[in-house]
Amino acid sequence: MKRLEGKSALITGSARGIGRTFAEAYVREGATVAIADIDVERAEKTAAEIGDGAYAVALDVTDQASIDAAISAVEARCGGLDILVNNAAIFDLAPIVDITRESFDRVFRINVSGTLFMMQAAARSMIAQDRPGRIINMASQAGRRGEALVAVYCASKAAVISLTQSAGLNLIRHRINVNAIAPGVVDGEHWDGVDALFAQYENRPRGEKKRLVGAEVPFGRMGTAEDLVGMAIFLAGPESEYVVAQTYNVDGGNWMS
Ligand code: NAD
Repeated sequence: MKRLEGKSALITGSARGIGRTFAEAYVREGATVAIADIDVERAEKTAAEIGDGAYAVALDVTDQASIDAAISAVEARCGGLDILVNNAAIFDLAPIVDITRESFDRVFRINVSGTLFMMQAAARSMIAQDRPGRIINMASQAGRRGEALVAVYCASKAAVISLTQSAGLNLIRHRINVNAIAPGVVDGEHWDGVDALFAQYENRPRGEKKRLVGAEVPFGRMGTAEDLVGMAIFLAGPESEYVVAQTYNVDGGNWMS
């Protein structure tokens, strides 16, 4: 039996990476998925590649008009929204003495305000349509502890964990379950960019940071987006109805090590 049959989902930042893999998995489970991304061209390509069950929606999570338009597009297409995955985020790396106000504001506007106001818009829609819903936020092990060069991103993901708790406790009265996934290190285009930043700041050869972090994971390798799919389906599906305001590590044991 397909676990998300007939459900309407929106995944932010799903033109590529983890969000795209979640979109593919949700479509396999019977959902119709809005590939919602600021990179509209790539969102359209991704939706076309996934095929039936996926469609592209332009979305900038920092822009309220864009958020409202994306939710309206989903309502027009599917009659409403059942599942929101707040996956869009950016990463930044700098020692404390080099952090700029511009980079702090940018990271927080996408990772924190973007998550909050997407939750708000989705919840308003779900409540207005009297649909029980699921909201899944992408946190990170970076939200569980600080890292020397990653202060702003870590703080933003700690805020996502906190928002998940508050929104989860507030919205369950409307039968909207809010939970989060905290991955460790997940291979993909994003980490290629992270590796390049570490190469610059730690004066390392390209590729070395990725090899080192992979070797440190107790499971024995970096994660893949597919490693997260089981949790993403569980939190969107019928078995997690009584799961409220939690953040789950899916990290090969990385956080504990
Ligand atoms: P990614 O960089 O590959 O993809 C992010 C997507 O978000 C891109 O398609 C980008 O266009 C989109 N995006 C950026 N700004 C946007 C905006 N303003 N509005 C809408 N879309 C926007 O990232 P990923 O590696 O797939 O990570 C996905 C999520 O998982 C993020 O929340 C990330 O913080 C989290 N995470 C990733 C890792 C990892 O190692 N890759 C680890 C822990 C947590």
